[in-house]
Amino acid sequence: MIPLDVFGSESVAADLLQQVRWRDGVTCPRCRSDRTVRNGSYREFQRYLCKNCDRTFNDKTGTIFAHSKIALRRWLFSIYAFLRFNTSLRQLQCEIDVTHKTIQRRIERFARAVDAPSLDLVGPVEIDEVYVNAGKKGRERDQESRSRGLSTRGRGSYDGDKPPVFIIADRGTGQRYVIPAKAADESTIRLLLADRKEESITVYTDGFRAYEPLEADDAFDREYVVHGDGEYADEEVHVNTCESHTSLTRRWLSPHRGISKDKLTQYLRAFQLRRELYRKPGRDALKHAVQATL
Ligand SMILES: [Zn+2]
Repeated sequence: MIPLDVFGSESVAADLLQQVRWRDGVTCPRCRSDRTVRNGSYREFQRYLCKNCDRTFNDKTGTIFAHSKIALRRWLFSIYAFLRFNTSLRQLQCEIDVTHKTIQRRIERFARAVDAPSLDLVGPVEIDEVYVNAGKKGRERDQESRSRGLSTRGRGSYDGDKPPVFIIADRGTGQRYVIPAKAADESTIRLLLADRKEESITVYTDGFRAYEPLEADDAFDREYVVHGDGEYADEEVHVNTCESHTSLTRRWLSPHRGISKDKLTQYLRAFQLRRELYRKPGRDALKHAVQATL
């Protein structure tokens, strides 16, 4: 259920932020002391006085929500619609009646604050890559958009404005990871597979050459499918989970078509977060999203 009360009232929105932020108690953002007392309010937000450093702060101080002209409830609505409904920024701009620049700045500030996913692979692991058309946004706005979005056709490069994005599906944990990279080469692949629970791990890939060196390495039991040989799924040897996650990724990026390559990471972290809160009820999902930025 959509937490409409949060989006309809600034004080309800302020309460939600307060609950999430101080779930382990109130501490001073400056000196970390917990010797704080309530000290009036700043608009809808509780203010505090730190008895250690004698400075005041409020519920928003030190968060991405501080120093913003846009009301917290509107910003929370934007985050919610962005993550839950995959709403485009153009649409959000209309819904909350701000300029495109404002909504873009707010959403991207939120997405940048979301942490990188920490891989802790159990395996077996499927790994695959796709190449995203992501150049410098704006420059080619009025050109055909046909070639935008994710494409698996042909290998691309970061410098050629077609950076690789790795999709990892850990069958052991059910986790999926979507991680953009500068290059689809051996060292990048080794780095991605480095965070694992066991010394040795089973890895399923396609026939792409960059995965070949894994075979000579005792740490990996690599098995691969060769597309185009009519051999698509050999019982457990396949990358089908990656491929279906690729199409979800494609759909996620689609409303934001033409994302530049330097912003790809933040949009994909938001996508990762979307999956984490997918099955949570509305209010919990929103809290989870706010917490991810603290
Ligand atoms: Zn202090």
